[in-house]
Amino acid sequence: MIPFSPPRIDDTICNEVILALKSGWITTGPRTKLFEKKITAYCGNKTTLCLNSATAGLEIMLRWFGVTEGDEVILPAYTYSATANVIIHCGAVPVFVDVNAKNFNIDPKAIEAAITPKTKVIMPVDFAGFPCDFEAINALAVKYKHLFRATSERQDQLGRILVLSDAAHSFGASVNEKKTGSLCDVSVFSFHAVKNLTTAEGGAVALNFEEPLFDNAAIYSELCIKTLHGQNKDALAKTQKGNWRYDIVEAGYKCNMTDLSAAIGLVELERYDSDTLVKRQYICNRYSELLKTDVRLQLPIFHEQGIQSCYHLYPLRVNNITEAQRDAIMQEIFNQDVSVNVHFIPVPGMSFYKRLGYDVMNYPITYTNYSREISLPVFYDLTDEQIEYVVNAVKIALDKVLC
Ligand SMILES: *Cc1c(COP(=O)(O)O)cnc(C)c1O
Repeated sequence: MIPFSPPRIDDTICNEVILALKSGWITTGPRTKLFEKKITAYCGNKTTLCLNSATAGLEIMLRWFGVTEGDEVILPAYTYSATANVIIHCGAVPVFVDVNAKNFNIDPKAIEAAITPKTKVIMPVDFAGFPCDFEAINALAVKYKHLFRATSERQDQLGRILVLSDAAHSFGASVNEKKTGSLCDVSVFSFHAVKNLTTAEGGAVALNFEEPLFDNAAIYSELCIKTLHGQNKDALAKTQKGNWRYDIVEAGYKCNMTDLSAAIGLVELERYDSDTLVKRQYICNRYSELLKTDVRLQLPIFHEQGIQSCYHLYPLRVNNITEAQRDAIMQEIFNQDVSVNVHFIPVPGMSFYKRLGYDVMNYPITYTNYSREISLPVFYDLTDEQIEYVVNAVKIALDKVLC
């Protein structure tokens, strides 16, 4: 069976984790702090906080901004449910909008049509690692300043809609040479096991607020407390001689990153550009070369007009098919021992969201993208022979189902 996206766990990773284990420091400590600094240097944002998931990072930032009952948050219907769930956790209303047919990303025109005086945050998602149109999205936040009704100190300070990017897929992607993380107010990366860069579980909040209006370093300190019980000293600070007393300054959360995770992340980051991305680009380009002459298929876009993907997924679309035909094609591919996936089952079609009254059919492009989409395996150790095998499996499946 060709798997879909197993992590790359080699001796370099194992040795670094063993060093962390033997260092005597396994929770948040020197490796996490170093990883944060290296992410900031890589992305060119202002400062970075590592956490145990992207989901935690997104929710913390909504709460930090004071998003609450009665507020609206705009997001694409075509995303993973985590993007929407965190809005529900805050008591706010997810306002789903449609995406574009070209690259699967949120459509700025649809965002504009959805903005109301209740809109507090826009959460774009860089689908498959292809950055959204941040120029247009950032401009909308400014354009609708006059509609914005601040109901928290932070909202007052920003004076406009917050652009909080779900960059779970797009670590290392860029727009005009500027990396994700530095393209809007805040971007949240995921280092979950299936993502491009992994720490087993993990995420990072890339802060990039305009200075001196905001002090990103001060927000970082505030978030460290918020993500560790509301405790004013972390475990490392408490190990200083006599420094045992601490205070709880708010009812905080618990979602810090461990140094074991950071150990994996440091190795992954070190070889990300020179090795990981080179390989992922090679795999995606090879698929495209082998599939481009097949008129039944629509191939994904990886770079265009200064926008550069980080090759997180290979989202293939089959032209003019129904959802049932797509499912049948996938089954035929699985029957040949190749793991494929669908990104994503649209959130408004999930039973929880259906019960809230959402209907996937209100997002026609999202639905067509979804019903024709099949994601092919992309992972570091995928060989040339396996790539060819996957391509043949796809073609055989298409011949069978579309005959
Ligand atoms: C993976 C993913 C998340 C969640 O990331 P975690 O680190 O698992 O919390 C959020 N949004 C999108 C689009 C994702 O693909």
